[in-house]
Amino acid sequence: MWKWKFILLLIILGNVSSCSKKRIEADILIKNGIVYNGVDTIPTHVSIAIKGDEIVFIGDEKNIVINAIKTIDASGLIVSPGFIDPHTHADRELKDSIKSHNKPFLFQGITTVVVGNDGDSFYPTSQYNNIYKKNGVGTNVVLLVGHGTIREQVMGKSDRKATTEEITKMQALVQKEMDAGAFGLSTGLFYAPGSFSNTEEVIALAKIVSKCNGIYDTHLRDESSYTVGLIPAIEEAIEIGRQAKLPIHISHIKCLGVDVWHQSDSIIKLIGKAQQEGIDVTANQYPYDASATGLKAAVVPRWAESGGKDSLFIRYKNPTLKKQILQETKKNIIRRGGSEKLLIVKAEKSASFVGKNLLQISEMLNVSSEEAVFEVLKKDYVRVASFNMNANDIHNFMKQDWVVTGSDGNTGHPRKYGSFPRKYNKYVKQNKVLEVANFINNSTSKTAEILKISNRGKLKIGYYADIIIFNPKTFRDKADYTDAFKLSEGLEYSIINGKLSVENGRFMKQLNGKVLTKK
Ligand SMILES: [Zn+2]
Repeated sequence: MWKWKFILLLIILGNVSSCSKKRIEADILIKNGIVYNGVDTIPTHVSIAIKGDEIVFIGDEKNIVINAIKTIDASGLIVSPGFIDPHTHADRELKDSIKSHNKPFLFQGITTVVVGNDGDSFYPTSQYNNIYKKNGVGTNVVLLVGHGTIREQVMGKSDRKATTEEITKMQALVQKEMDAGAFGLSTGLFYAPGSFSNTEEVIALAKIVSKCNGIYDTHLRDESSYTVGLIPAIEEAIEIGRQAKLPIHISHIKCLGVDVWHQSDSIIKLIGKAQQEGIDVTANQYPYDASATGLKAAVVPRWAESGGKDSLFIRYKNPTLKKQILQETKKNIIRRGGSEKLLIVKAEKSASFVGKNLLQISEMLNVSSEEAVFEVLKKDYVRVASFNMNANDIHNFMKQDWVVTGSDGNTGHPRKYGSFPRKYNKYVKQNKVLEVANFINNSTSKTAEILKISNRGKLKIGYYADIIIFNPKTFRDKADYTDAFKLSEGLEYSIINGKLSVENGRFMKQLNGKVLTKK
């Protein structure tokens, strides 16, 4: 009999102790994982509970009872805040209800993408904002307003300085777009029509953005030796930050082409000096030695394409201009490392060009490489991967704490499908350029801070539950230059706004992203 009394006592005591423990009701509980919180350098083995779209608990479960609808055992897996990609061209697909799942980015562990980069945004912001909301989006979206887009609204494609009146009009449009939810202004000063503007014009617009607590994101006027040169282009960006008093974010920082190789040391010093002066300068970088752009943008002189493609071919018919255009195109091809370094990765009409380099195409057409450019452009819009970077510069930039991961994901280049896992697999695991925590912190919290995204980018109580879980042994990119459309592998789970988008490596067919609003 005493034995039964003793057992009863134990049950009562057990109940008392579990009653005295705090209880948490959760939708999802993640336990046993290797947890990087996006800030610290050493991982922990804490549990994480999610309720609704929020992280409600992080810590040891010893003194707590968590009743979760779903429990994920993350043993042997890395748990991290979802990656934030500060530079993509995902807007092309997000507006299409069939592709708005954003899988190329989602499977890299990205839970938030920025769109509207390079000075090129969909206009007006409010309309696309509504389309994204209506279609549903697979990842969160941050919108920027493009300088080129605004300029075109006011001045068309004209190759001249803006008048005071035009600047006032552009300022009003930038204000309108910021009010509609843009996080900042992007420029593509290398591309037409951004290239037709001077620094004063950009400062005038950046001042509006500054008033709205926005950021300035730039594709520099020159990443090589085309016009002003790489270092003066960085100085221009810094000057914009100094005068307009807003943070400067340099997109896809690189030393493009042999003329500017090994300038990374000088650039890092220059940016360090600006930061000491109090100017907030940061950058993003994709982990590839080839850049990608349109063939026209890569090698055709800007003055020749002023007014658009038709104007280009009118000039090309004029024998004197043609000679000059071909000479300058030839120089630009050399600057990019020669015609064999320009690989056609996408053609809208002529599939036979894809997978061939410009040298092979010129042999096929039996013309010089520079003439081949115009033969191709006459027929089609093509994109090229341009192998023009040096490993030293890539490593050098990657190690800076102000450089975050960005994909610049655009169709045809493997970076759209592979940037984040590639950086982890190649530069963290294989080449040991970075520690895991550096990679994660500079793909999450640092990026959120740069873009001024609130309550994301960290694993922290009260923050939105954008969380990924990946296998450190298998997380890698699969896309390459021969097949740029392979999803990355090794991502086991992706939770966006508290909901499962990827489970056991499979897409859950849920569009859990949101269009984010600026604080
Ligand atoms: Zn760009």
